[in-house]
Amino acid sequence: MSDLKRVDIPEEAPYVNALFWQMLQGVEEVLGENGLNAVLRSSGLDRYVGNPPENNLESGVLAREYARLNEAIEQFTGRAGKGMLQRIGRASFRWGIKEQAALMGLANIALKALPQRLRKRAILLGVRKGLMDLVDFGLVDVQDNDGVLVYTDYACTICHTRHSAEQPICHLYVGTLGEAMTYATGKDFREFEIIETHCRALGHDYCRFEIRDRA
Ligand SMILES: [Zn+2]
Repeated sequence: MSDLKRVDIPEEAPYVNALFWQMLQGVEEVLGENGLNAVLRSSGLDRYVGNPPENNLESGVLAREYARLNEAIEQFTGRAGKGMLQRIGRASFRWGIKEQAALMGLANIALKALPQRLRKRAILLGVRKGLMDLVDFGLVDVQDNDGVLVYTDYACTICHTRHSAEQPICHLYVGTLGEAMTYATGKDFREFEIIETHCRALGHDYCRFEIRDRA
């Protein structure tokens, strides 16, 4: 780091259908079909009710719709929103692995050949590659600082166009990274502590996450 800079995502930037599709699958898994439809209606995303985007790599949805759906789930579920979004993030990652492993940069990683510690980093590098290949404006950095994995997204879509006064808001990302750690190690996601230390919604230049093994 850090010759990388904040990416200014155009307000109307398109986003990859498959990534939005994965999130819709995750929302339906956690909130049920009725919950999904209620959230879509409450967030002005009626056009996706019973009509998800194709599960493909074209950019037909909008980045701000992805962000809007995150925001709506937080509003819809109230105090439970943070945990709910983390669950949705974990479910989304599983759908991504199931449906789009190759596209997410994860199909060709020979996990078993790697020691445990390197597996986690390898998965994060796979996610990074997937996002940077698929998303026009994608810019992600992965570092290993003495065993603390630091994942930094300079163009986070979850909080695109959003503002927060006090707390980072990319809870879905925390869930996704947790599930990525489970995928890498076979361990329960609770064995990892994942903290969003910076968030673009707070005015920072990036969303940054620290990932540690719990003692
Ligand atoms: Zn953020």
